[in-house]
Amino acid sequence: MANLRFQALNAVLSRTIPEVKTPSSKISEFFGVNVFDKKKMKEFLSKEAYQSIINSIELGTSVNREVSEQIAAAMKAWAMTKGATHYTHWFQPLTGTTAEKHDSFFEPTADGSAIEKFSGDALVQQEPDASSFPNGGIRNTFEARGYTAWDPSSPAFIMESNTGKTLCIPTVFVSYTGEALDYKAPLLKALSALDKAAVDVCHYFDKSVEKVNASLGIEQEYFLVDLALYNARPDLLLTGRTLFGHMSAKGQQLEDHYFGTIPERVYAYMLDFETEALKLGIPLKTRHNEVAPSQFECAPIYEEINLAIDHNQLLMDVMEKVARRHNFKVLLHEKPYAGVNGSGKHNNWSLITNTGKNLLAPGKTPKNNLMFLAFFVNTVKAVHEHADLLRASIASVNNDHRLGANEAPPAIISIFLGSQLNDVLDEVESARISKKVKEDNSLWLGIPKIPQILLDNTDRNRTSPFAFTGNKFEFRAVGSSANSSAPMTVLNTIMADQLVKFKTEVDKLIKKGEKKDIAILTVIKKYIKESKSIRFEGNGYSEEWEKEAASRGLSNFKTTPKALDAYVSEKTLNLFEKLNVFNHRESEARHEILLESFYKKLQIEARVIGEIVNSVIIPSAVEYQSKLVQNVQGLQAIGLDKATYKAQLELITKIATHVNFIKSNVDSMVAARKKANAIDDLRDRSIAYDETVKTFFEPIRYHVDKLEQVVDDGQWPLPKFRELLFIK
Ligand code: ADP
Ligand code: MG
Repeated sequence: MANLRFQALNAVLSRTIPEVKTPSSKISEFFGVNVFDKKKMKEFLSKEAYQSIINSIELGTSVNREVSEQIAAAMKAWAMTKGATHYTHWFQPLTGTTAEKHDSFFEPTADGSAIEKFSGDALVQQEPDASSFPNGGIRNTFEARGYTAWDPSSPAFIMESNTGKTLCIPTVFVSYTGEALDYKAPLLKALSALDKAAVDVCHYFDKSVEKVNASLGIEQEYFLVDLALYNARPDLLLTGRTLFGHMSAKGQQLEDHYFGTIPERVYAYMLDFETEALKLGIPLKTRHNEVAPSQFECAPIYEEINLAIDHNQLLMDVMEKVARRHNFKVLLHEKPYAGVNGSGKHNNWSLITNTGKNLLAPGKTPKNNLMFLAFFVNTVKAVHEHADLLRASIASVNNDHRLGANEAPPAIISIFLGSQLNDVLDEVESARISKKVKEDNSLWLGIPKIPQILLDNTDRNRTSPFAFTGNKFEFRAVGSSANSSAPMTVLNTIMADQLVKFKTEVDKLIKKGEKKDIAILTVIKKYIKESKSIRFEGNGYSEEWEKEAASRGLSNFKTTPKALDAYVSEKTLNLFEKLNVFNHRESEARHEILLESFYKKLQIEARVIGEIVNSVIIPSAVEYQSKLVQNVQGLQAIGLDKATYKAQLELITKIATHVNFIKSNVDSMVAARKKANAIDDLRDRSIAYDETVKTFFEPIRYHVDKLEQVVDDGQWPLPKFRELLFIK
């Protein structure tokens, strides 16, 4: 029987493209059909219940028991008309995936028959037996219960699969003692802190603002690979990335993939998952090829941040599910293939008032521009103050391969503003505040004109981890598989904190008798001065930048275990506690979970390397070597001299050298792992994994990849990069 690689290749060659039917050629006709959105609520709810839930969504008020009973009944009625039989609380535990625990609507009655039931209590709260979700020591066994609680601000939806339909209710997941065990709970707290702080600052300019929402548009990069090829690569299967593989002769050097024609098989897949996503109310808008071969991207229209993140988590699920129908595997890993670009998840973030104003869009008048400058400069200042925490928020074992790898933003956090806004900030910083009164009685403050349509909108600096792009900031360092809640909880918390400080300083000046606008501008000028070192317009990939950043005092944590320290620094602990996002225990628990996941993933990778080397690579190499030996013996037997089999002898030695190197390094790696495992302290253990175990990966791989190049192609067991990347 052919080895798995050739079976897989045969399978790929016989693929047909599944037919994809969209419900209608007009997206508007099926967008959100699987969502219990406002329109359906209106249809299924009494007027009072409807108003109560709308208030809850828009103003964050709570829903009383009676109303939740009505909403549950309405949800059930709607879901059953759609064919749903089960319901589940849908939540985002710290495993990084989403979790569900399905219950049936079905309930037996006393008379032996049965009814379909869904109570308000079941809507509001569930107790999944969740003792095996990561909790960082928060839940000792005696308080092992955790519960999920309804988040009315994110609408319920129906998840369809081949086997049935389930009503999913977005929830937070907290321990019995109230500590957050998920991504959503802290995000909601950060958003509430931000809302309050931002509304207060808005009131300097516009008293009519009642609420400020953060908006988020998440660009999602991913790779596709044929399912059979994927299954023939134990490394992809178990770790999400290739641990071996020589780069194919052609990679991304011709840059012929970016924005190229989408291959037909991929197009069918995209159409299919987009349709499912659109039915779930995920407003997908763009799709295109990315830079690396077999790499793609999709992006939705931005939404309120909590919804945007739920939608991104849901989208990743949908992409994986639908991929199966197309015999694809979607790779969300940050760096599936060494030698071509990795994948990110650009987080486009802005602040928008309930009156519809984007606070990060420059305005028409100087007065509006003062408001813009206030929010803009406070963002720069917040990032300057908490760059380390932002870095920590995107740290993961996967993202370590990507950050600073000359294709992705560096591990140094800096901000790119674009030349126009850079000039504006420089001007504001050095301008004398003018107290001249203008004709309309307002003050002429000397704020330079800010063009409304910024050139820099298109002035792309792809090397910056945090870039201003016209009316929003784009946090590009976020990894493709990440839950955006982690970085967005941090970003919104530091922004909230910054705005509170800003207001305190401005109020102080006003109290001293300064005019409001002058007070605001004075503090803005001070912030521009203080946060200068975080601004960088140049090439973030260059070596000079590393040096310059160091001389500016910016941190450059290249790997996760040390980057994560910022989560538990005094500064961070106090920040989170002050704004009621995490108490100390929650921060520490999260830190612990992140470290644990870091070293465990390296542990798995190390094991997989050992397994593949010992049971797949070495046997294939040795088998080929034996063939060469036989060949040499044969040539000798018929009396040929050494010169005729010189090449074979060289190959035999070469293979022996690589095999010996690989074997001895795998043994040393195993020893290093044992040593690391014996370290009690989690941070020290993670560092040991990073600095000892992991350092064997590259050299082992180098020699395996050399073998790949010499061993008979017909005998090589693992699908090669050219097959993984180019066969569609
Ligand atoms: P790129 O050129 O980086 O691919 P796009 O123009 O495709 O950028 O937009 C990227 C994302 O930014 C989209 O999801 C878009 O909806 C989002 N976006 C646009 N305006 C805002 C905003 N004000 N707040 C948040 N996200 C926004
Ligand atoms: Mg982008």
